[in-house]
Amino acid sequence: MEKFIPLSIPNFEGNERKYVDDAIEQGWVSTGGAYINDLEKKLAEYLHVDDVVACQSGTSGIHMALVESGVRPGDMVIVPTLTFIAAVNPVKYQFAVPVFMDCDDSLCMDPNKVEQFCQEECTIVDDQLIHKTGAIVKALVIVHVFGNLADMERFVWLAQRYHFILIEDATEALGTRYNDGIYKGKYAGTIGDFGVYSFNGNKIITTGGGGAITAKDLKRVAHIRYLSTQAKDDPYNYIHNEVGYNYRMTNVQAALGVAQMEELESFIFRKQKNYELYKRLFADFRYGKIKEFRQGTVSNKWFYSLEIAMNEMSCSLRDIIIKLGERGVQTRAIWGLIHKQKPYQDAILYRLEKSNYYSSCILNVPCSTQITEEEIRYVVIQIKDVLEEFADEKRSNH
Ligand SMILES: *Cc1c(COP(=O)(O)O)cnc(C)c1O
Repeated sequence: MEKFIPLSIPNFEGNERKYVDDAIEQGWVSTGGAYINDLEKKLAEYLHVDDVVACQSGTSGIHMALVESGVRPGDMVIVPTLTFIAAVNPVKYQFAVPVFMDCDDSLCMDPNKVEQFCQEECTIVDDQLIHKTGAIVKALVIVHVFGNLADMERFVWLAQRYHFILIEDATEALGTRYNDGIYKGKYAGTIGDFGVYSFNGNKIITTGGGGAITAKDLKRVAHIRYLSTQAKDDPYNYIHNEVGYNYRMTNVQAALGVAQMEELESFIFRKQKNYELYKRLFADFRYGKIKEFRQGTVSNKWFYSLEIAMNEMSCSLRDIIIKLGERGVQTRAIWGLIHKQKPYQDAILYRLEKSNYYSSCILNVPCSTQITEEEIRYVVIQIKDVLEEFADEKRSNH
């Protein structure tokens, strides 16, 4: 059989089939049922928070966080440009205006640039941050890219100082936490005003599609739960006092989720171990190195980033991905920048520099929890071989 090592596939080695069968057996397949409550309870316990609400996707979770933040048409929301577009599209659902911010070397948003933006382009009037165009800068969506915690000490300080709401997109960072500093013991998604998780197929745990939201203010979590189930106010008559959404997770999804939660710690352990092996195997390699995660944190190490010396290559990232695919190694490029995508071409940009660089040179390498040591060694040999070939080509062209 031909070799094929996938980038990231789900792992159902636990009680997934048993619980899903059980949900079907009980007839509770839709937006009510015990597994939903159980998953919410397990998430809350794991994250050391009092309440979590399960929803249809990370995207719907971010949308609900923006709705609950009171983001209205014309308001501004600061977002990264180097991320998955689902972190930004919900801003448009609210007819609000994204302001695209740069990353730093952690691949997460650069707090220094946010501070400069607030200082130089905005003023504070009646406890609101007002952009020079007159728009209210209502919120900031911080993404913990690939499981790497953004600098939350700085971001919480900035949110307080400049009066914006801090929404953590922790969709890639379930299980990532601080083990040092003022947030020691705190998990990604539980530090800002809102935290959003995703259980899409390639995330660290999956419910097929799904997500969850938590918030500092428990009333807000309860209100999101209410909004996500069509804002029904009366169990007997159809009374709805607000515009609701059909964003609740289903019991079948939650059954998968409960089984996955039982395995989360073991998934994280394997991701961390495999990361260390990759890092060792790429140490001292001239054309690429594995990026580090933030000091003072324990990362779930969801995705591994190989930073490639593109200036020494005769090709683009795309050619490398295709060549590796021919050798049975599935990789992917970090995202195309969002401000360059068609729906966002007239958006507001703020001093984008590093995002351009990283978007051209970061390759994600296979990181499924099932990957074996032998497979990792094979992947690394193939990557080195391909990069050396392209580097030779560049040299001989000169
Ligand atoms: C996966 C992801 C989302 C969206 O989650 P879905 O569950 O797929 O809707 C949002 N932001 C980032 C950064 C993601 O990686």
